[in-house]
Amino acid sequence: MNTRRDFLQLLAASAVTLPFIPLSGLAAKTKVVEEVYDGPVLRVALMGLGGYANRVAEAMKDCQKARLTGLISGTPAKLKDWQAKYGIDQKNCYNYQTYEQLKDNPDIDAVYVTTPNALHHDQVIGIARSGKHVICEKPMALNAKEGAEMVAACKKAGVKLLVGYRMHFEPKTLEVIRMRNSGEFGKIRFFQGNCGFNIGDPKQWRLNKQLAGGGAMMDIGIYALNGARYMVGEEPVWVTAQETKTQPERFKEGVDETIQFQLGFPGGAVASCLSTYAMNNLDRFFMTGDKGFVEMQPSTGYGPIKGRTHKGELTQPHFTHQTVQMEEMSEIILNGRTPVVPVDGEEGLKDLKIIDAIYLAARTGKKIYL
Ligand code: NAD
Repeated sequence: MNTRRDFLQLLAASAVTLPFIPLSGLAAKTKVVEEVYDGPVLRVALMGLGGYANRVAEAMKDCQKARLTGLISGTPAKLKDWQAKYGIDQKNCYNYQTYEQLKDNPDIDAVYVTTPNALHHDQVIGIARSGKHVICEKPMALNAKEGAEMVAACKKAGVKLLVGYRMHFEPKTLEVIRMRNSGEFGKIRFFQGNCGFNIGDPKQWRLNKQLAGGGAMMDIGIYALNGARYMVGEEPVWVTAQETKTQPERFKEGVDETIQFQLGFPGGAVASCLSTYAMNNLDRFFMTGDKGFVEMQPSTGYGPIKGRTHKGELTQPHFTHQTVQMEEMSEIILNGRTPVVPVDGEEGLKDLKIIDAIYLAARTGKKIYL
């Protein structure tokens, strides 16, 4: 189930509170209303027209509350292709030297940064200076120091900073969070998050410490970390971590191949997570409390997410993650909606502080208190 019609049904049924309503069985209860939405629309420019930008642009075709209106790229030929493909006005196209001129452009409300990790810091601060809201891909920055500077810059400029945590709007994930909040799992005792894939091309930026800031932990391990936080519903108080490297010729100094990390939560729950670039199709969450459990596999990929709890299969509908994310981010930016799980710069910064601690724990072998 992933058509524009299905998506419009869900939106029509959910009015303005998509993440807050019980989604189970929703589609069956809704009547088909392809109403023309006439509320505010978030006009978005994409910065860095690579693989993920492409996915976001395609997903936004199905959005009612967000629209692609601008492009930022260092490659003129790419700008030309994208302009033709998405009908973008020439006056809304910029390169990395000119994008701060966005401040004079009334057709763009927000910029979505989808460049390599190391560029996020300066670009987000530059966009904030131009007075536009920012959506930044994960990881928000290379470390907590950079992240804090980005949060401060956006605050000073009076613009919102959001991070592309698409799972925070995913219906099965939200159902699990609802079940946890209502006590259906009992006291949460244990979370396991395994996230990884076998990375290809050795020349890609993801394997370049300067551009990626690290290795698998920055790129895919962050899903296990962020997942541990939103599944358990608490902030960890300590971290331990161990790194293993079986292919040092592929994964150079500072680029982690595999890290196992453990988190301790104030309520007594522990998390055991695996982040890797050397095992395929690793995308699994398991959590148990003293009354029940949930397992999800896939748990953070593009979906459909699949899972079951002690009460049975999770049956909430699947919609393209990036479509729902952009609809919801439009509500957050334009209407001040508060999402169930935060997606703001502070949330991105929390992950970065823990990632710093994970790297420190792996390097020193010590238990790091947060
Ligand atoms: P990509 O390599 O496909 O695209 C990166 C883009 O940035 C390219 O268009 C490239 O030309 C441009 N770029 C600008 N300056 C560059 C430079 N100095 N070096 C290299 N490229 C430069 O990468 P991607 O997979 O689209 O990832 C981009 C960001 O999106 C990353 O932060 C990544 O973690 C994030 N991402 C998020 C998800 C998600 O599900 N939320 C999925 C994939 C990627």
